[in-house]
Amino acid sequence: MPASAVNSPSRRGYDMNEDKLRRALVANCLELERLHINQGTAGNLSVRCGDCMLITPTGVPYDKMTAPMIARMPIETDYGVWFGPLAPSSEWRMHLNIMRARPDVGAIIHTHAVYATTLSLLHQPIPAAHYMVAAFGGTNVRCTEYAPFGTKELSDLAIDGLADRHGVLLGQHGMLVTGRDLPEALWRAVELETLAKMYVLALGIGRPYVLPDDEVSRIVERFKFYGYHPRKTKISAPANVWNPRKPHTERLPAKPKRKPRERP
Ligand code: 13P
Ligand code: ZN
Repeated sequence: MPASAVNSPSRRGYDMNEDKLRRALVANCLELERLHINQGTAGNLSVRCGDCMLITPTGVPYDKMTAPMIARMPIETDYGVWFGPLAPSSEWRMHLNIMRARPDVGAIIHTHAVYATTLSLLHQPIPAAHYMVAAFGGTNVRCTEYAPFGTKELSDLAIDGLADRHGVLLGQHGMLVTGRDLPEALWRAVELETLAKMYVLALGIGRPYVLPDDEVSRIVERFKFYGYHPRKTKISAPANVWNPRKPHTERLPAKPKRKPRERP
């Protein structure tokens, strides 16, 4: 069923948070283009906004995209209904179904990045040759079978391939990453393309070593507390896990007191 347009009188009357998220989506599109991770009209981005999803419009080149062009879709109700001047991305099902299945996901980036897509042409998952695979929540980044773009089949394959992870390669198509928010999703998009590039280059020279599963599982745990998270994201690390956000509680040695200068 195609997404259906609804003429909403309030479509331009979005609040400040929505306005900020719309502008952030456009800024992230341009950043992906600047980093040569996406170009032209390839790929699409979405972000959770209350009980709705904001998603890039279909077929609009990133350098022509503006905040009012972003489409809004309810997540849990009125499946497929969208608000906005332009139709949402042809991959709206994939984005919406992931947001429905994964309440932890706040943002999704789908790209046709060259190295990740190269591996997807071979249906080749990325093993833990480099420890950064753990940033995607498991011992590898899976690759799905092929399904045509914009279909429910592709959406189902993406959800299965992702399962509880944060990234997946889409067979003969590209890649998809998730994040709690847009900065985290952008970070993962860059890291996944970097991992794919390293793996492709290594395969050209020989057979890369692969880290054992138990080591990758330890790194997966450490990644849960790695990096910058806004204060509203409450995550507390167990005492035995290294936590860069825990304040430094060791007391510094007291400064030696200066002796008063003796006057001659
Ligand atoms: P849209 O322009 O419809 O978002 O499609 C781009 C794409 O990558 C399809 O998979
Ligand atoms: Zn695509």
